[in-house]
Amino acid sequence: MALLQIAEPGQSQAPHQRRLAVGIDLGTTNSLVAAIRSGSADVLENESGQRSVPSVVFFDSGVEPLVGHPAELADGDALSTIRSAKRLMGKGAKDLESSWLNKHYKFDLSSGSLPAFVTTDGPKSAIDVSAAILRTLKSTAEASLGGELVGAVVTVPAYFDDAQRQATKDAAALAGLSVLRLLNEPTAAAVAYGLDNEDEGTVAIYDLGGGTFDISILKMQRGIFEVLATAGDTALGGDDIDNLLVEWLLAKAGIAHLANEKEEAVVKQYAQKLKESLSAQDTVAVDWQDTNGNGWKGELSVAEFNSMLEPLLLRTLKPCRQVLRDAGIDKESVTAVVMVGGSTRVPLVRHKVGEFFEQTVLTSIDPDEVVAIGAAIQADVLAGNKPDSDLLLLDVTPLSLGLEIMGGMVEKVIPRNTTIPIARGQEFTTYKDGQTAMALHVVQGEREMVEDCRSLARFELKGMPEHVAGAARIQVLFQVDADGLLTVSALERESGVLASIDVKPSYGLSDGEIERMLRESMDNAGEDMQKRVLQEQRVEASRVLEAIVSALDADGDEHLSSQERQDIDQHIEKVTLSMKSDDRSIIKAAVHDLEHASGQFVERRMNASVRKMMSGQEIDAIDSSMGTGPNDKSVADV
Ligand code: ADP
Ligand code: MG
Repeated sequence: MALLQIAEPGQSQAPHQRRLAVGIDLGTTNSLVAAIRSGSADVLENESGQRSVPSVVFFDSGVEPLVGHPAELADGDALSTIRSAKRLMGKGAKDLESSWLNKHYKFDLSSGSLPAFVTTDGPKSAIDVSAAILRTLKSTAEASLGGELVGAVVTVPAYFDDAQRQATKDAAALAGLSVLRLLNEPTAAAVAYGLDNEDEGTVAIYDLGGGTFDISILKMQRGIFEVLATAGDTALGGDDIDNLLVEWLLAKAGIAHLANEKEEAVVKQYAQKLKESLSAQDTVAVDWQDTNGNGWKGELSVAEFNSMLEPLLLRTLKPCRQVLRDAGIDKESVTAVVMVGGSTRVPLVRHKVGEFFEQTVLTSIDPDEVVAIGAAIQADVLAGNKPDSDLLLLDVTPLSLGLEIMGGMVEKVIPRNTTIPIARGQEFTTYKDGQTAMALHVVQGEREMVEDCRSLARFELKGMPEHVAGAARIQVLFQVDADGLLTVSALERESGVLASIDVKPSYGLSDGEIERMLRESMDNAGEDMQKRVLQEQRVEASRVLEAIVSALDADGDEHLSSQERQDIDQHIEKVTLSMKSDDRSIIKAAVHDLEHASGQFVERRMNASVRKMMSGQEIDAIDSSMGTGPNDKSVADV
């Protein structure tokens, strides 16, 4: 009999009660918030009617920071007016050395590994700056939607690593914003165009923003986007176009260089206006003067502008070629090209990119807003407003995650390109008799040896019961949540001893480093495999040595004649020597000979154990230690 549910009077849920969720594009230059209203996704305006918030925060002592246009208008202390903080998210002091930010700001490096901008309101980390921006977007959204948000989908560049993603989540938490999901920016753009509804396809996302250029290739299959490859240039964007126009303007006016930074900023702003006008009209009137009254009056045509622009655009095509190569596809298999970023409003950009990919590029959704809109669509689904929707986007791990095992080798637990969220376990064992602690070293990368991978975290599992080598059973679980954050736990099965770690590495991968790591792994695949096989043989040799030596120490005299003992000792010597060789077969042969030479010894011990057991005593440990299964990987002791 079916049970019918009856609601308590006055408690039935309103059928169309929507849970308010937003999508946020937290950009290097501009940030936006969008939401689904009356069935369609739209960018939300602030009370001054502005749709995008410049990612600028002005910190003045003792007052709430100013965010966006007000921060720009305040015209305050340049060192306390922070721009492009996104470049520093999840990065350490070391990364700062080569950064654009280092030239423009002062940093406080005293607080551990997190560098902070020195402002008149004290030190501020990139997380603080991002939190201020997110707080502003949150209040815009709540004012505009008329209620409290249940959460937000926040976008991040596809190449953001764990540290950068975690920093973004930390900023959201500081802003009192619950993150439903971090979403890759190119994936969000593809979702905005509904490309996830197609059965399959390969999409190129060309994103030219204010100061960065990213190109990504996504593969779409049954609602799952896989980032096949990303490339780009972190020092190329709309700012460079502005600079070209500034140079042109100064040349026209016959000015060698400007008086000061303030003057530079003014002319840059003027250049930016010219540029933006030329996206909508064929010519623009120029009338500019510096404070000394030097200047130029005339006209700039799109044709002339385009000829200045051409070399810059060619620079974006190189990463386009590279990304296709890395993804292992040709132009013909790209089914759609999406334009993202304010700078793709420039008609020549669209034209050049279309020419390169040999197809019309998608521009019907405003390229400034497309990422926020995709995030809003995703947020609506995750908030549970679309119960029928099967759109549950999955992203993938960009690089393999694994554990260091004996011999400095890497055992991959979650291979790259695995869709997340994912949990995967693997069993490991001890290497030494009586080992009660285990050092776990979590690494990321495709190479076979730890030294060639990226170290993410180290932790220890302590207080395990004593076992002979290879007998302990340690279940190691890798979990990557929907935002790409990793938790690793290790459980000793018998005692229930447990240790775990959330991976928050102190330094991020620099942009494009993922690609480098992948490329290196392909270039070195053959050599790596040989190295690994050799190293495995060495580990096997030392395991056999360890077992036999400890058995000899225990009861060698009891079971062996001095001649037999001498023979085994000689073989032990040979194995020890062979381990220095780079020839795997030499080590293998020596180990084989040692095992052969000690065969009788092992057998006698076994018989003795059996006899002991028959008489009610415990079986000796060594037998099980020598029977370690080939699938168990040993982790170093501490
Ligand atoms: P980000 O992703 O880095 O935050 P955006 O996508 O917001 O950056 O792009 C900002 C850049 O887009 C700026 O350099 C800005 O001048 C440029 N931009 C905005 N509108 C136009 C336009 N109409 N024509 C040309 N460039 C534009
Ligand atoms: Mg952007």
